[in-house]
Amino acid sequence: MRAKTPALDRFRVAAAVLVAAIHTSPLASCTAEGDFWLTRVLARLAVPFFFLVTGYFLGRSNWKSLPRFLKKTGLLYLLAIALYVPLNVYARQLTGWQEALRGIFLEGTFYHLWYFPAVLLGAVLAFLLSRLGARSGLAIAALLYLAGLGGDSYYGLLFTHPAGKAFYDALFCVFSYTRNGGVFAPLFLLLGASAKPGNPRLCLPGFLLALACMSGEAVLLRQAGWPRHDSMLLFLPVCAVLLFSLLLSVNGGQDRAARRFSAAFYVLHPWCIVLVRGAAEALGLEQPLVQNSLGHFLAVVLLCSLLSLAAALLRAEGPAETGRAWRELDRQALAANAALLRRQAGPHCALMAVLKADAYGHGAVPCARVLRRCGVRAFAVATLSEGIALRKAFVRGAILILGYTPPAEAELLARWRLTQAVVDEPYARRLAAQGHRVRVQLAVDTGMHRLGVPADDPAAFRRIYRLPNLRFAGLFSHLCAANSAEPSDEAFTAGQIDAFLRLAGTLRACGCPVGDTHLLASAGLLRLEMQPCSHVRPGLALFGVWETQEERDESCGLRPVLSLRARVACVRRLAEGERAGYGLAFTAKRPTLLATVSIGYADGLPRDLAERGGEALLHGVRVPIVGRLCMDQLLIDATDAGEVHGGDAVTLIGEDKGERITAEEVAGRCGTISNEVLSRLGGRLGLVLR
Ligand SMILES: *Cc1c(COP(=O)(O)O)cnc(C)c1O
Repeated sequence: MRAKTPALDRFRVAAAVLVAAIHTSPLASCTAEGDFWLTRVLARLAVPFFFLVTGYFLGRSNWKSLPRFLKKTGLLYLLAIALYVPLNVYARQLTGWQEALRGIFLEGTFYHLWYFPAVLLGAVLAFLLSRLGARSGLAIAALLYLAGLGGDSYYGLLFTHPAGKAFYDALFCVFSYTRNGGVFAPLFLLLGASAKPGNPRLCLPGFLLALACMSGEAVLLRQAGWPRHDSMLLFLPVCAVLLFSLLLSVNGGQDRAARRFSAAFYVLHPWCIVLVRGAAEALGLEQPLVQNSLGHFLAVVLLCSLLSLAAALLRAEGPAETGRAWRELDRQALAANAALLRRQAGPHCALMAVLKADAYGHGAVPCARVLRRCGVRAFAVATLSEGIALRKAFVRGAILILGYTPPAEAELLARWRLTQAVVDEPYARRLAAQGHRVRVQLAVDTGMHRLGVPADDPAAFRRIYRLPNLRFAGLFSHLCAANSAEPSDEAFTAGQIDAFLRLAGTLRACGCPVGDTHLLASAGLLRLEMQPCSHVRPGLALFGVWETQEERDESCGLRPVLSLRARVACVRRLAEGERAGYGLAFTAKRPTLLATVSIGYADGLPRDLAERGGEALLHGVRVPIVGRLCMDQLLIDATDAGEVHGGDAVTLIGEDKGERITAEEVAGRCGTISNEVLSRLGGRLGLVLR
C-alpha cells in the first residue's frame, strides 16, 4: 500500500501562495514572459482548486454540510470584511451604500474577497443544480461557465457581435467581472462533488498536456487582444480537474493546521502587501523590498506566513468531539418533542424547559438554543452556576433556579437576571436583606416536604409579598407521586393540585402579585389533566425519555434525543478459557473477539453495567459488555459483530442500523431511573449536534 498524505489540505497552502503571486507579480523584474505564465496561467489554478475542494467535501456529505459550510464561510467573510475596513476607508472605497452592498454581496469588499460571495452564492447554486441530477447539473454549470468566458478572456470575440457585446456591457453595470456572481464557481463545485481519485500514470501526463494547452490558449488570446480579464480559460476546468484527481490519488487524512493556515494566508496577504510597502518606505528599503519584484513577493510571503501561523495557532481547535466517546443530539427530535409537549399543554399554557444537570446530560447550552428557536421563552436550572452558564452563552428569556442559592449571592442573581426559587420564609427574609433587587418565584410545599412555604399558611405568603427588594414573578409547586397509578397516590396528587390552586386563588383574591403559576413536570403533563396554570415544567419528557422502561410509551410520539457512542480502541482474540479485565472477571466461553471500548464509569456509565447484563451495539448487532467496567474503558464481546477494527463506533445508548438501546433499558438493568443515568454523563464526553 502506498503511503498517503493529506495532499488536499497541504496543497491549499500552495494555492494561497499562488494567489499572493497573482497580486505581487514575483518575476516581473526579471522576465515578463515568465511572470505572465506564473501569474496568468499557473496561478489561475488556485481559486478553482479551492472551489473543487469545497465541492468535494460538500458532495461527500451529500450536501448535508451545506448549511454549516455557509455559516462558517459567512462568518470568516464577515471577519475579513471587518479586517479590511481600514484599507477601504484609506482608499476611499465603498463610500455609497449601493457600492457597499454590491461589495458585500457580489464583488467582495476588497480585491481578493470576491472569492467569498462567489463561493457562497456558487455553493447554493451548485446545490440546486445537483438536485437536477449530476449530468444535467454539470451541463448547465458548463453552459454558465461558457457564458462567463465571453465576458472574460474571450471578450474580444464579441466585438464582431454588437448584440453580444451589449449584453455583456449591460452585465458589467452590475458585476465588474463575470467570475463574480454565480457563473464561475458552480462548475468547479460540481466537478469537485463528483471528483474521484485518478490513476496518477494517466493524470500526470494529462495534467501537463492540459497545462500546455492552457498556456498556449492564454498566449494566443493575449496576442489577439481579446481578454477583458484573465480568470477564465477554456482549458482551465480540464487542467484543474486533472490536478485535483492527481491530488486525490495520493490524498489520505487531514491537516487541519494547513487548512487554517491557508485560509488565514488568503485573507491576510493584501494587508501584508500594504505593510511591506509601508515598512520599505519607512526604512528606505524600497529597492530590495518593492522595486525588486521577487524580493517584494518573498517579503510578503514571509510576513504573511508569520501572521497566518499566529492566526492558525490562535484558532487551533481541540481534538475532534467524536474521537473517543461522545453524546450525539438529535436537534429535530428535541424540537419535535417541545412542539408535542406544548400541544399537550394547551393554548394557554407555555413551556418552561427544565435544563438542570446540563440538560440531563444533553448539554444545556445547545438544548436551550434549539428550544429558543422553537419558541420556548422560559427555562429552569438547579443551580446558580448553571443559570450563569446559560446567560454567558447569550440565552435570553426567564431562567428560574429551582434549587438553593446562598442569599449572599443576591448580587449575582441580579446581575445575570436570574430568578431564584424562594425555599421558605426565613430564606425570603435573608434574600430581601441583601439589598439587591432580585426576581423570585415562591416554592409551595403541597406535601412533598422538600422545598417551599407550606400551602396551608397563606399568611406566611402574604408576609413574604410585603418584603422589600424581591420582584415576585411566580408561584410553583412540585408533585411527588404523579407517575403512580396507585389509588392512594392518585388521591395524594389530587390533594396537592387542589392545595396549590386554592392557595393561588386565595393570594390573588387578596391582591398579592402571584405572577406565573406552574405545577406539572413530565409525568404530570403526560398523565394528568391540564391545570389552569401559566406554565408546565417538563425536563425528562423533552428528551424523549421516561423514568423506567415500563412507563415508556412509544405511542405518544416523543423521540429520544440523545445517543451515546464511543470508539473501539483495539481488538484481540481470546482462546476458550482465557480471562480478561480487572479481577479477571471475564472468562471466554468460546474463541472470542474481545474489543476494548473507550468509555468507562468516569464518563457516567454505571460501574455494574457489565454484571447486570449490559449490552452495546456494534455494526447494528447487540453484543454483551463483559468483565468489570474500568474508569475510562470497557470490554465487549464482539465475536458476533462481524469484522471489527480500532476506531469503529460503539453505541451504548441510541440507535445503530435499526437496533436500539434506550436510556430506560440501561437504567432498568442497574436498578435506577433514566434521569440518573443521563444526568451523570460526564463533562469529558464530546458533544455533537445532528
Ligand atoms: C427536575 C424537576 C422538574 C422536571 O422534572 P421531570 O420529571 O424531568 O420533568 C420540574 N420541577 C422541579 C422542581 C424539578 O426539580
